[in-house]
Amino acid sequence: MLPESIASLPKAELHLHLEGSMQPPTVCELTARHGITVTEQEVRRRYAYRNFGDFLETFKWVTSFLRDPQDFALIARHLAEYLLSQRVVYAEVTISVGVMLLRQQRVEDNFASILAAVEPFVRRGLRINWIFDAVRQFGAEAASRVVDAARQCASPSIIAFGIGGDELSVPTKDLRRVYDQAATAGLHRLIHAGEVGGPEKIREAVELLGAERIGHGIAAIHDRDLMDLLADRRIPLEICPHSNICTGALALQLGRLRAGMEHHPLPSLFRNGIPIVLSTDDPAMFHTTLLQEYQHASDLGMTGNELRQLAQMSFDFAFERQHSQVQADLRVDRQHGTS
Ligand SMILES: [Zn+2]
Repeated sequence: MLPESIASLPKAELHLHLEGSMQPPTVCELTARHGITVTEQEVRRRYAYRNFGDFLETFKWVTSFLRDPQDFALIARHLAEYLLSQRVVYAEVTISVGVMLLRQQRVEDNFASILAAVEPFVRRGLRINWIFDAVRQFGAEAASRVVDAARQCASPSIIAFGIGGDELSVPTKDLRRVYDQAATAGLHRLIHAGEVGGPEKIREAVELLGAERIGHGIAAIHDRDLMDLLADRRIPLEICPHSNICTGALALQLGRLRAGMEHHPLPSLFRNGIPIVLSTDDPAMFHTTLLQEYQHASDLGMTGNELRQLAQMSFDFAFERQHSQVQADLRVDRQHGTS
């Protein structure tokens, strides 16, 4: 069991998709709003994947029920409740704006509804900033419209632009201009890379796009020089252990038919000096929680001190620096041995 001293630490969660946080009952509530009957059993059946392609198909299916601003408010509220249950005080949450645009929704209306839904949670100690995410396989032009949408929403809480989806689709160099546009709009640069792709995808993300954190990046284990580069430049990997098992990404990276948690390279990446941001990715779709991910890290042999460092790193590498106060509190707690 995860020691209470770790479980009770205030935490930040930096790689988390709003749409991947819909628990089966939430999906049913959502479909019912639109007169569609979906059972929890069906959602659970869909939330099991043979490979990464399967997962992307389910993501498409579940997001097809997000049709109006109230739908987004509903899932944002449920996400905020979940985050508080995990002792999360700060989160950077990814929204699939690329999917909203594909479905010809008004991003500004959806986003306003999301903001209003989470506003009451600020008083309960939870602060959220947002990452506008494009879908790689939709192409660079579509990604550029995601940056435009961020600009139009004009909210200081939109802090970063990211790209997810099929990292083997569009070549990295074709995304360069979009990332320059994002930086001009004042957004930090994120990307999913080295999840199912090779280490070269991570290197390209850093060198061509100026990525400031890498989503997943487990392929770094194949390239010693790249691991040194990430450690030297202090570019964190957003590691989501259970996600890598569920999507088959870890098995793929290790060239195995099946990979279990015991095969996850989290401890070795960490001990090679690479900053790690421990995250859940899509907690509902991968049947996990942030506390369970800390449990996984513990099961992998990481010490109490290392787990504390993980908790601290999620604050250190957050884009919002105002959380220095939380960090200071953590340090004081540690000095007094109270947590
Ligand atoms: Zn992700």
